[in-house]
Amino acid sequence: MAVSDRVHVRAPGKLNLFFEVGRAQDDGYHDVASAYQAVSLWEDVYARPADGFSVGVSGSVDLSGVPSDDRNLALRAARMVAQRLGHDGGVHLEIVKQVPVAGGMGGGSADAAAALVACDMLWGGELGSSELQRLAGRLGADVPFALMGGTAVGTGRGDQLSPALAKGRFDWVVVTAEEGLSTPDVYGRLDELRRRPDIRPAAASPDVDPAVLHALRAGNAVALAQHARNDLQVAALSLRPDLRDLLESGEQAGALAGLVSGSGPTVAFLAEGPEAALDLQVTLSASGHAALHVHGPVHGARVV
Ligand code: ATP
Repeated sequence: MAVSDRVHVRAPGKLNLFFEVGRAQDDGYHDVASAYQAVSLWEDVYARPADGFSVGVSGSVDLSGVPSDDRNLALRAARMVAQRLGHDGGVHLEIVKQVPVAGGMGGGSADAAAALVACDMLWGGELGSSELQRLAGRLGADVPFALMGGTAVGTGRGDQLSPALAKGRFDWVVVTAEEGLSTPDVYGRLDELRRRPDIRPAAASPDVDPAVLHALRAGNAVALAQHARNDLQVAALSLRPDLRDLLESGEQAGALAGLVSGSGPTVAFLAEGPEAALDLQVTLSASGHAALHVHGPVHGARVV
C-alpha cells in the first residue's frame, strides 16, 4: 500500500448539452435526463497529508462564494474517503479554480471528484473506480460525471451514468457571468413557471432526445445545435433576463446554438469548429463579455 506525500488531480467542468427536468418529487428533487460533456476548463486539486482537514482556494474566477469550511464539497469528499478507509490522519487541499462558481458548470462537483481521487491516492487506498463512483453519488448529482468525464447520459438525479459515444471534438465558447445563480432557486422558478400554459410541462419520464445522441455519435455539431435543449433555461432567463440579449448576440455572431448550461448563468455557444469558435470568442469579448474557448469531450478526474 503506497502512501504519497503530495498528489495533484485535475478534473473538468461540464456542459449540459441536453437537460430535461421531470416533476418535483415529494422531497423537492426532480428526476432529470442529461447529456453531459466534460470540457477543457479545469479544476486543479493538490492534496498533502495534514493533522486535520483544511482547504485553500485560489484561481482565475470570483472566489467569494466558495466556502473554506466543511461546507466545501472537496473537504466533504476528503472526509468521506478517510472514513471509508479508516484513515485517521487528515489532509490539506489546495484548489485552483478555473470553472466559474455557481455557474452551472459543476465546479464544486469537479473539486469533489478530484478530492476523492487525490485522497484515495494519498492514502494508498486503491478504492477502485466503482467504489469512488459510489462515494461520488453520495456527494452530489454532478460528482459522478466529473469523475467519469467524456460524454455521458445521466438519469435519476443526473448521477446514474452511462457513457455516450462522441466522435471528434466539439468547440464551445463559454460566457461566464460575474454573479452566479443558485441551483435551488432556478428549479423553484421552473416549478412556478410550469403552472403557466405557455411553458413546456414536466416530462413524465425524462429522457435524452435520441437525435442528440445521434449527433454526438456522428460528430455533427450542426445537428447537435438543432436538438440541444435545456428545460432550466426558461427559469434561468426569467431570473436573469439579460441572458436573452447574450444568447441573441452569440447567435448573431455565428454560433450554431446558444444554451444556458445546467442552472446557469453560464451560457455555452456551440461553434462549427476551432476557427469559428475563435472568431466568436473575439466578437463576444470585444462587446465586453467574459468569453472562453473550450472544447470537449475531455477526460474525468485524473492524477496529473
Ligand atoms: P451545481 O452543481 O449546483 O449546478 P454550479 O456548477 O452552479 O453547481 P458550483 O460552483 O459547483 O456551481 O457551486 C455551487 C455552490 O456550492 C457554491 O455557491 C458554494 O456555496 C458551494 N460549494 C461547495 N463547495 C464548493 C467548491 N469546492 N467550489 C465552489 N463552490 C462550492
